[in-house]
Amino acid sequence: MTTYVQMFQQGSKEQKGLLGGKGANLAEMVRLGLPVPPGFTITTEACRWYMTHGSAPQELTAQVDEAMARVERELGRRLGDVEDPLLVAVRSGSKMSMPGMMETVLNVGLNDETVQGLARKSGSPRFAMDSYRRLLQMYGRTVLDVDAALFEDVLEEAKKERGVSSDVELTAEDLTAVVGRFQQIILEQTGYPFPQDPREQLRASIIAVFESWNAPRAVVYRNTERIPHDLGTAVNVCSMVLGNLDDDSASGVAFTRDPATGAIGAYGDFLVNAQGEDVVAGIRNTRSLPELEQLMPAVYTELMDIMHRLEMHYRDLCDVEFTVESGKLWMLQTRVGKRTAEAAFRIATTLVDEGVIDEREALTRVTGAQLTRLLFPRFAADAPREAIARGMDASPGAAVGRIAFTTAEVLRLQRDGESAILVRRETNPDDLEGMIASAGILTSRGGRTSHAAVVARGLGRTAVCGVEAFDVDENAGEIRVGDEVVARAGDILSIDGSTGEVFAGAVPVEPSAVVQSLTGEIDPDVAEADELVASVHRLLEVADRARRMRVRANADTPEDAARARALGAEGIGLVRTEHMFLGDRRHLVEDLVLAADEFERGQVLDSLLPMQREDFVGILRAMDGRSVTVRLLDPPLHEFLPDLTELSVKLARQEAQGVERDAHEEKVLAAVRRLHEQNPMLGLRGVRLALTIPGLYGMQTRAILEAAAKLRSEGLDPRVEIMIPLVSSVRELREIMPEVTAVRDAVCRETGMDLATSIGTMIELPRAALRADELAQEADFFSFGTNDLTQTTWGFSRDDVEAGFFFTYRDRGILLSSPFETLDQFGVGELVRIGAERGRSTKPELKLGICGEHGGDPASIAFFHHVGLDYVSCSPFRVPVARLEAGRAAL
Ligand code: PEP
Ligand code: MG
Repeated sequence: MTTYVQMFQQGSKEQKGLLGGKGANLAEMVRLGLPVPPGFTITTEACRWYMTHGSAPQELTAQVDEAMARVERELGRRLGDVEDPLLVAVRSGSKMSMPGMMETVLNVGLNDETVQGLARKSGSPRFAMDSYRRLLQMYGRTVLDVDAALFEDVLEEAKKERGVSSDVELTAEDLTAVVGRFQQIILEQTGYPFPQDPREQLRASIIAVFESWNAPRAVVYRNTERIPHDLGTAVNVCSMVLGNLDDDSASGVAFTRDPATGAIGAYGDFLVNAQGEDVVAGIRNTRSLPELEQLMPAVYTELMDIMHRLEMHYRDLCDVEFTVESGKLWMLQTRVGKRTAEAAFRIATTLVDEGVIDEREALTRVTGAQLTRLLFPRFAADAPREAIARGMDASPGAAVGRIAFTTAEVLRLQRDGESAILVRRETNPDDLEGMIASAGILTSRGGRTSHAAVVARGLGRTAVCGVEAFDVDENAGEIRVGDEVVARAGDILSIDGSTGEVFAGAVPVEPSAVVQSLTGEIDPDVAEADELVASVHRLLEVADRARRMRVRANADTPEDAARARALGAEGIGLVRTEHMFLGDRRHLVEDLVLAADEFERGQVLDSLLPMQREDFVGILRAMDGRSVTVRLLDPPLHEFLPDLTELSVKLARQEAQGVERDAHEEKVLAAVRRLHEQNPMLGLRGVRLALTIPGLYGMQTRAILEAAAKLRSEGLDPRVEIMIPLVSSVRELREIMPEVTAVRDAVCRETGMDLATSIGTMIELPRAALRADELAQEADFFSFGTNDLTQTTWGFSRDDVEAGFFFTYRDRGILLSSPFETLDQFGVGELVRIGAERGRSTKPELKLGICGEHGGDPASIAFFHHVGLDYVSCSPFRVPVARLEAGRAAL
């Protein structure tokens, strides 16, 4: 018989897969002897069973009863006891933290009778009724699917009638009336009365938690966080401790260090006389930990002690949820806490300095995705601006966008290509889609531990929370300060998530200090004085020592090359020579294609040669002493020739107006007509063009080698590699190689220099990967072009897919992320693996690199390490990210 239930004292933190993060860490706290209310965990296995069978496993009821009986024995109280009822919390908790995405039901066990017992026992009828109305509200919404607004309206009315603004001020009588109304709502909406049997409440709450695994917002969250959909959630049944019992009671959330900046010292929010969800929901403005020290000194000291122990035990920043019941502290949750990118770097190196972890472990505590965030721009320090309000610095960064009060408005702005700032009184999990699509989030209520703050940090969105001066009126579409309207929907707002400031209008942004420190734009001593910058430098050095793969950049100009080098690039993995023909020089490609005969073509090529030579001199000079892979021309012709329809229309219009026909344009039209392709990305590109226009690759080869010779004669050390694109057959290579090698040998002869140059090919078509053993007979090296390889493996147009059906595919879970952004390891990646293996079966020393976009994608780099590539090449900006990830992959 499968065991689906574990008492807290039976588990450990290693069992996250089975018990979920919350259950595993509760168990761990029990092992550490910390004050955890007795309870048990229903495993994720039970949830997975529920998902496949549509019902709970049969043995679950008996196992829950038995575990419940153990809790009752431990506490000497019983569920449903009318004199001294035991209450339980039923809480979700999956392997990966999904804050606020799934359901929780508190105060299970209350009914019309036990609520009286609770009132007598606690001596507070008000407290008992408040607990009961919370149960009705949560159970109604979560288990019975009743519209939450119906309950909220009743509560609002009750407050209005009493003339108060907070729930705490409602009396026992007010709450008794609210309870009556809530029960009526449940009866009206479901056709059944609220179940009085505590066991039935417990059973239904457990099922509701299972169900909440597939709630739409949970699915959206898993899609963005790339969490598999089949893990399921565990359910924790925990005896209730009551933070809303009296004024010696409280609930709070705390971090062992500041999760926004990483600064040393505990950080947290709490509320007196409240239950846990009040703190994160931002319903009342919270108080900060130092106030707890004044109000409840003994509790504060114990909490600090526990938090220190947890941090030493987990050797990382932890967050905790705690409740104080009549002066006694209870721990309800802990986990290794989420943090901003900035905090991640600072905490990792601080823990090294504190002797808690070593440098290599520190490297595992940060990610390339986090580093990417630190490379984002900030508001320019000297830009004129006036803060119109200030809130909490909840999630760093600088965001500028138009005010949107709802997710729908955010999405509309996004469709129009505008960035949005989502402005809410407080966010709830249903706002997730809007939060994802916005540039930044502003709330007027709630602190740094509120839902908005936690989710924003997880998503890497800038957020300012608790801007108390703002009265956010979503219905009127206005933000007011006092009676004055300070902003309306659609107005531009700038928010600084690192300071909490809010500015009207668009404030200019400037590059990040991390980038500037890496490129040497700020004095190294000044830079190192910045703790964050110093942490990043230090961990990049650790990564550089650890990594096997080299990091190169894709760069087409001397400026890009210099920038890449400053950011740590060890060479260039891809110079796209067609980029040298964009802009003014575009007509040269046109001329080349239009050339009527060999003589004309020769003339065009001759005119191109000196320009190309100068291009290469610039790049090779900037990368002196490091490898530069120049890819010979690969222009999808539609990017260089006029559009057939546009040109035809233009000429037809001219004719209609009686304008004499331009002979050149006629010639162009004829050529465009001749060369027009339905699928230009699959057309006359790369080596195919070279074989159609003899002399083209020869000219480029000459330009490259003459540039190298010139630099060599200046005493420099140019290192070039020549690369042939879009090859699918070894015969193509065999046809083109003689043209390239003949020119190379000729330039060596002419200059009397040994300009040893390797000549390789790109692997960017499935056939090339499959025939890599043959290609390696001709090629000195391979570079995987995963952009085209993804396009041709999936059959998705790389230019269109992300604007088209991709969103449908993502929403339906067919794709978790764009395969053009993160390598599809199972399909495209398999071809990379095959290409690498087959290539090396011919030439064991074959040098392998990747120059598609994936070379700089933090989620793809480890894969390239594991298939044995020698280097990744990415855009200059992502070089530090690639260095870090290549280091992490090698640990
Ligand atoms: C590729 O296809 O991955 C590649 C690097 O070449 P391009 O993006 O220029 O087609
Ligand atoms: Mg390509």
